Amino acid sequence: MKVELDANGYYGRFGGSFVPEILHRNFEELSKCYLEIINSEDFKEEFDMLLRDYVGRPSPLYLAKRLSAEIGAKVYLKREDLNHTGAHKINNAIGQILLAKRMGKTRILAETGAGQHGVATATAAALMNMQCVVYMGETDVERQFLNVQKMKMLGATVVPVTSGNKTLKDATNEAFRDWCNHPEDTFYIIGSAVGAHPYPDMVARFQSVISEEIKKQLMEQEGRDYPDYLVACVGGGSNAAGTFYHYLNDERVKLIEAEAGGLGVDTDKTAATIYCGTEGILHGSRSLVMQDEDGQIIEPYSISAGLDYPGIGPLHAHLAKTGRAEVLPINDDEALKAAFELTKIEGIIPALESSHALAALHKVKFKPEDVVVLTVSGRGDKDMPTYIKNFNV
Ligand SMILES: *Cc1c(COP(=O)(O)O)cnc(C)c1O
Repeated sequence: MKVELDANGYYGRFGGSFVPEILHRNFEELSKCYLEIINSEDFKEEFDMLLRDYVGRPSPLYLAKRLSAEIGAKVYLKREDLNHTGAHKINNAIGQILLAKRMGKTRILAETGAGQHGVATATAAALMNMQCVVYMGETDVERQFLNVQKMKMLGATVVPVTSGNKTLKDATNEAFRDWCNHPEDTFYIIGSAVGAHPYPDMVARFQSVISEEIKKQLMEQEGRDYPDYLVACVGGGSNAAGTFYHYLNDERVKLIEAEAGGLGVDTDKTAATIYCGTEGILHGSRSLVMQDEDGQIIEPYSISAGLDYPGIGPLHAHLAKTGRAEVLPINDDEALKAAFELTKIEGIIPALESSHALAALHKVKFKPEDVVVLTVSGRGDKDMPTYIKNFNV
């Protein structure tokens, strides 16, 4: 079965657009114009130039020899950790702000959990000289001091959110509320492949530069433009969507997704949305959601702030339910172990999110000749406090 988005913004049963009346026109406008704008020569030229000269793309595809020996397959790392601001999120933030500019918007909104998307968006806003407001749960504001200071230094206004659990879901709700009050001049830059149509598709397209580069780089290094396996972690699913994008309908390529198991999928401390979630609507689209019988969100938990989200992008719900992708829940301790392993044998300190993907390598039975490409979505600088606490584990 072909993986594709239908005219209403659905991947199979998942996706669509469930938005408040007042934003209906914004979504209509965006759905109508986004493809034309992002496929225009003028847009592509500016986007490609910024990805190259500002973000530092292409990111290297690195054959990790010692990791390969450990895993028993040929493992390549797609180094999104080397991007400006330290993760894949900047690809999407720049894509969306260029779109906002062309739509005549002057004010940028974003939500952020750990602060990574907030920093990427504040960076893009500084670059484009646009006003930027970032909503962030109060709990996260306290936990992520450095990212909050970075956003401020970049000129963004950080608004602490005190509703609900004071984390990412609540920040997203508040950002939506703000947008409802300023539908004319404001553009909402969502940080992952989630939300109402056309956001999941738009974000996947901006991140698809990852698999576009993998194709070229594999051709140069392996003499064929596809791997046997692609491996990525999923929070909302943007780095995974970008990694899989040009291979979604290439059956030769097996897709592996690592989601955050937290303390275990059979405990109440987990963020394994695909494993534990049920069908529902969250932040504008139908997908898998961690919810109770009354449809109330169950607070997710993961050691990694970037995977700590109670939903999942509709593409990934579809890939999992149709069996196109294999989803592996990875627990906190497994992710930590994989982070220390990569650091020790390859000299690369990965983000905790990416460490979930690395841990998944140990759960797949590879053949020695298999070519595996794993996306290192970000670098571990932001996770040092957590790593320090766990030095002796
Ligand atoms: C935000 C983040 C993620 C999770 O987001 P996706 O949209 O699922 O990619 C993964 N890795 C890093 C480094 C992040 O900052």
